[in-house]
Amino acid sequence: MGFDIRALIEARRGENAALHTAHVNAQVPRMLGAIGFDRVLTTANGAWYDDAEGNRYLDFLSGFGVFALGRNHPVVRRALQDVLDADLADMVQFDLPLLPGLLAEQLLARAPGMDRVYLCNSGSEAVEAALKFARCATGKPRILYCDHAYHGLTAGALSVNGADEFRQGFAPLLPDTRIPFGDLDSIERELRAGDVAALLVEPIQGKGVNVAPPGYLHEAQRMLHANGALLIADEVQSGIGRTGKFFAHSYDDVSPDIITVAKALSGGYVPIGATLARKGIFEKVYSSLDRVFVHASTFAGNALAMTAGLATLAVLDDEDLMANAERRGQELTDGLRRIAAGNDLIRDIRGRGLMIGIEFGRPSSLAARGVWTMLNTARKGLFAQLVVVPLYNRHRILTQVAGDHMAVIKLLPPLMIGDEEVETFLTAFDAVMADAMRPNGLAVDFGRTLVKQALGR
Ligand code: PMP
Repeated sequence: MGFDIRALIEARRGENAALHTAHVNAQVPRMLGAIGFDRVLTTANGAWYDDAEGNRYLDFLSGFGVFALGRNHPVVRRALQDVLDADLADMVQFDLPLLPGLLAEQLLARAPGMDRVYLCNSGSEAVEAALKFARCATGKPRILYCDHAYHGLTAGALSVNGADEFRQGFAPLLPDTRIPFGDLDSIERELRAGDVAALLVEPIQGKGVNVAPPGYLHEAQRMLHANGALLIADEVQSGIGRTGKFFAHSYDDVSPDIITVAKALSGGYVPIGATLARKGIFEKVYSSLDRVFVHASTFAGNALAMTAGLATLAVLDDEDLMANAERRGQELTDGLRRIAAGNDLIRDIRGRGLMIGIEFGRPSSLAARGVWTMLNTARKGLFAQLVVVPLYNRHRILTQVAGDHMAVIKLLPPLMIGDEEVETFLTAFDAVMADAMRPNGLAVDFGRTLVKQALGR
């Protein structure tokens, strides 16, 4: 018998940690083992996945935002199987394949003001294109980016990363300029030098779940345009319906010059990215026959990725997932606010739709303050791990700390969640937060383990 992927998975299941330790990034199994997240996972469906011991987990991370439709959506899978069976002449490179044209048409139909689409394979690649396009279109070199910004980790995207822990060890990067998020004065100041190509900004920052202040994007764009510069909205995480609208920047009634998307457009199956822009920008980049492939990528527009994208947009509409994101986001936010009212460890609940941040802060009660101070002294933001770890290990719900050195956790569930998922999460979160307040609750044990790790790093 020839190659059999099912038999291979069956035969080698359980060797996961050994293989990663020996051949991949050995720090990952180390980290997962330390916090007790080292499960052997098997199948998945919708908002849930299973481990080899038959336990079920609720996914409130969605693979960093990939699984907007839920895991293993049958419509996307069917479309992928159909396109495989169609034996298409894919990636000929010197032809005009139908599917990229169709996906671009669908994306533009949802993006007023945008005229052209550059297709690629990831969020970072979409950002790289945006950075190059902005420089080329304006003839200026410098990009403004925000504190806490995350736009990917390729060299160009890393140059506009607003967190030093990612940048260390990779200098020199591009000489771009970091400014405070939401601060218009600093944009005005930087524009005076006359060399700014664009402001690159997430309408809602993934790190920290910071929402752009009302009017910020609008006014920033006015100032940028007055100085021959562009507004780039990075919607890789916040776009494709996550916040209840197709794009998060729509809440600010702004029409950016360039928009990046990726993650959810994959349907959770095939990597993809896209950079949307105004026609004039494309005309500057692809200005002559000589420059026809001046920015391009081998796999861009491949049939599997295009099919996943087209099927995803269809399911988003057919299942009314944007409305569901808004509704379930409201239910979660209301429930969280109720819990916060009785728990002074919770400082803020923020976000939009199903991109929600929960920020913790120093409590006033003496008992709870002990744990808070112990964790915060060991490592700023460590308290958030105290919540994420028992949510997973006791309640089997996956969430994430929203960034290094931040006391914020982020909820990024699939957009198709219903009553069961909302209730399961709120009940578990309530229990974990009640325990965190108790001086001798299990929280202390988790806290001690984490402090030991933090000090031993
Ligand atoms: N931009 C934003 C806003 C993101 O959240 C991410 C990924 N978390 C990226 C860009 C990079 O995307 P990728 O990991 O697909 O390269």
